[in-house]
Amino acid sequence: MSRLLLKGGRLVDPASGHDGPADVLVDDGRVAEVGPELDATGAEVVDCGGLVVCPGLVDLHVHLREPGREDAETIETGSRAAALGGYTAVCPMPNTDPVADNAGVVEMVAARGREVGLVDVFPVGAVTVGQRGSELAELGAMARSAARVDCFSDDGLPIREARLLRLALEYTRAFDAVIADHAQDASLTDGAQMHEGEVSAMLGLAGWPAAAEEMVVARDLLLAELTGGRLHLCHVSTGGAVELVRAAKGRGVRVTAEAAPHHLSLTDEAARSYDPVFKVNPPLREKADVEAVRLGLADGTIDAIATDHAPHAREDKEVEWSTAPPGMLGLETALAVTLTELVGDPAPGARDPQPPIPGPPNREGSPPGSGGAPAVHSPSGYLDLATAIERLTTGPGRCRRVPGHGGPVAPGTPANLAVFDPAATWTVDRARLASRARNTPFHGRELRGRVVHTLLRGAFTVRDGLAQR
Ligand SMILES: [Zn+2]
Repeated sequence: MSRLLLKGGRLVDPASGHDGPADVLVDDGRVAEVGPELDATGAEVVDCGGLVVCPGLVDLHVHLREPGREDAETIETGSRAAALGGYTAVCPMPNTDPVADNAGVVEMVAARGREVGLVDVFPVGAVTVGQRGSELAELGAMARSAARVDCFSDDGLPIREARLLRLALEYTRAFDAVIADHAQDASLTDGAQMHEGEVSAMLGLAGWPAAAEEMVVARDLLLAELTGGRLHLCHVSTGGAVELVRAAKGRGVRVTAEAAPHHLSLTDEAARSYDPVFKVNPPLREKADVEAVRLGLADGTIDAIATDHAPHAREDKEVEWSTAPPGMLGLETALAVTLTELVGDPAPGARDPQPPIPGPPNREGSPPGSGGAPAVHSPSGYLDLATAIERLTTGPGRCRRVPGHGGPVAPGTPANLAVFDPAATWTVDRARLASRARNTPFHGRELRGRVVHTLLRGAFTVRDGLAQR
């Protein structure tokens, strides 16, 4: 295998704490050496001047739709979208058809991921049989399978019965696995179309109250505390949920949490367009929630940014709001949305670190109908670049095992790396996405930060912004 020298970049490696100029020598799929001015003899030199080199991104929460809805996405198209987004590892949720609730399906998904070979695929197994919420799936068998599943979720659906969640948390302690819950009290969200608040009242759409998320988060935290099991909270979207997680972490509960790029950047104001591309579950919340989730990400209450990449076929999604399924694409835009919305440092030359803003930001994005999604844009930063990268790489690795990913970028480790231009701007065009679906809420938006190369075990999956397969 080839020898590559990534030369002259800014290496940001949260696992080792390194943030500064360094060359990275890759040999035979592994990092061979890291340091200043490395010898390029026998190596192909890749000029990384002005670029950031970091561990490949890790996405804890994607929907790849295979098996069952290959018209919306496949493991291959989703893997390609991920690689283009700078990812080297993704964790597909089990709500496929058939449901990934047994060793056979999780092994098939992992094997297909290996065959495609663009990212490492770490499947999430279902907690209950068929995600029906009535009996536990074969968690042990999935953990022992070739897919070595260590994360289970009924995502898309909450685990309604506290007794079952308790059993799952107790049982998975034996193999140190994690239960990832989609926190939603279904009895409060029957028929809900969007976040419950002023905008839903004005539009006359049935609301999904923040309390329906927060009461399940509170229950889950109590059960994690009771059992000593490992809990992960999917797509935290409300200020109250952030506060509950912060308090629970403070008293030592074994909990980790993720937030989605759209919950960090868009509000329920987007629903005024009635464009179903903005329909998602949990729904886009209010500005104060976006602010709280951002601050939770900044102080580490929220460990990871996870996309909840949810591709839908056009004929399903491009219908009237009330009948459209919830969900948004995320893999190809997550890094740029994070850099644009959360990181102050606008250019590699701007060296002054920007402190987080203590109060709510008070600038609005473009109004609906002007071509872009309404956003809570912040001109300066909530996160410094290194922290943002941590939440996309090393942070996810705290939530579940993703061996070989998330750094450190150190001699002997697999060369799973992303290289991006932190200053380059580009405009999202849904027609040019690698995903089979088109439902990005960021179509037409100008974003800052562009993936240049992605390497999986030392081989380019993306080179100069182009997928290699
Ligand atoms: Zn979910």
